[in-house]
Amino acid sequence: MDCYTCRHNEQIDTLPPRELVAADEHWRTVHAFDSALPGWLVLVPRRHVTAIADLTDAEAAALGTWQVRLSRALRAVTGCVKTYVVQFAEHEGFAHVHFHLVPRMPDLPDDRRGPRVFGYLGAPEDQRVTEQRQDELATALRAELAHADTSTGPLSGRMRPANQPGASVGDEGLRGPVSAAG
Ligand SMILES: [Zn+2]
Repeated sequence: MDCYTCRHNEQIDTLPPRELVAADEHWRTVHAFDSALPGWLVLVPRRHVTAIADLTDAEAAALGTWQVRLSRALRAVTGCVKTYVVQFAEHEGFAHVHFHLVPRMPDLPDDRRGPRVFGYLGAPEDQRVTEQRQDELATALRAELAHADTSTGPLSGRMRPANQPGASVGDEGLRGPVSAAG
């Protein structure tokens, strides 16, 4: 099967920060590779799924948690006022379910709001967020997620390794479930 997302999922241990902003056993978060908008994230399931209806309850629960936690991290890192969440999976070669998580910046032009924000995706090479900048954003988001995980919010305990209740976790905490899943 030639699936861009699955090829990357299989290489999860060697991916750069922009391809592994965060992950657990169900989901991986990346920075969009062809976006002109800094902080445009994409949340993909760890297994090949082409319809939301085929997600398991466990994947669905983790999806909700990640959408909220990543939105918080984007707000802290980019200063966005809110996030857009969109799922189509219609492009050739990209049928693997993927949720776009887009920072809606305070100064986003009127003609780019709502669905028209997709004008920033599929950008020409010279207008894309550079890979270096994507890595920087990914690293900042990882730090924010790790920091948030030490708070006492209602979601904070769920992504923490079960053997470290209440412990202060860094990047290891985010990657823990990945390692556990092998
Ligand atoms: Zn796939």
